[in-house]
Amino acid sequence: MSRADNLGHPADFRVSYRFRTPNEGGRETLPLQGYRSDFLYEEDDVPGAGIYMIHPEFEDPNGVPIPEEAHAVSKGTARMWIVSGQMREVHRQRIKPGVRGYMVEGSRKVAEVEVIEVQGLHTNPQSPITPSGEDSCGKCGGTWPSPAPLEPAIIRMIRNLIDQGSSIHAIAELRKRTACSLTTAKAVQQHLGTSDGRCHECGTALTGARVTNCSSCGALNYWVGDAA
Ligand SMILES: [Zn+2]
Ligand SMILES: [Zn+2]
Repeated sequence: MSRADNLGHPADFRVSYRFRTPNEGGRETLPLQGYRSDFLYEEDDVPGAGIYMIHPEFEDPNGVPIPEEAHAVSKGTARMWIVSGQMREVHRQRIKPGVRGYMVEGSRKVAEVEVIEVQGLHTNPQSPITPSGEDSCGKCGGTWPSPAPLEPAIIRMIRNLIDQGSSIHAIAELRKRTACSLTTAKAVQQHLGTSDGRCHECGTALTGARVTNCSSCGALNYWVGDAA
């Protein structure tokens, strides 16, 4: 079942893509359908600029999505899905045919892409795709609106900024990437697991999902999650 069937609206736009070879710094293997790379605009390819959660859905030569768990081919077309509906306003200003960018994993550029068609970008909903509830911490007792799903690449980037002493920059990036409130961004920044996957409060090794309560002290931790 394609994402359009699941979500009831078309993809935001389509791209042609080419995966870089291992010699070019690309992946050793081609990814499977369901791959969750991030997106970097070519013109943003400078230190500190943004990457965005826009996931590809690979197509066959007829423009039909390939099956789940099928491998992408090295060069082809893909539908692109903006993960956080609130971010559509940003991309409506920027995405048009001919715009170039990359599929990225963290800061690594794995594929070169060019926009070939705008689809539902201007009509798809601006509200988040995933309904957001509330997150709460069993240690400090705080409660705040959940952020949009945090991809591992974003979590690592925010963690790095905090570790470098740039908490204000981290909060700004979180707001830019997830379009969350200042309250949520501050709470996420205060509840991020350590870079080696430990509770920010007590240092216990974390297990489980992206948002998890520490098994020792109960503190909420945002981290990259098991098998990320
Ligand atoms: Zn807390
Ligand atoms: Zn803990």
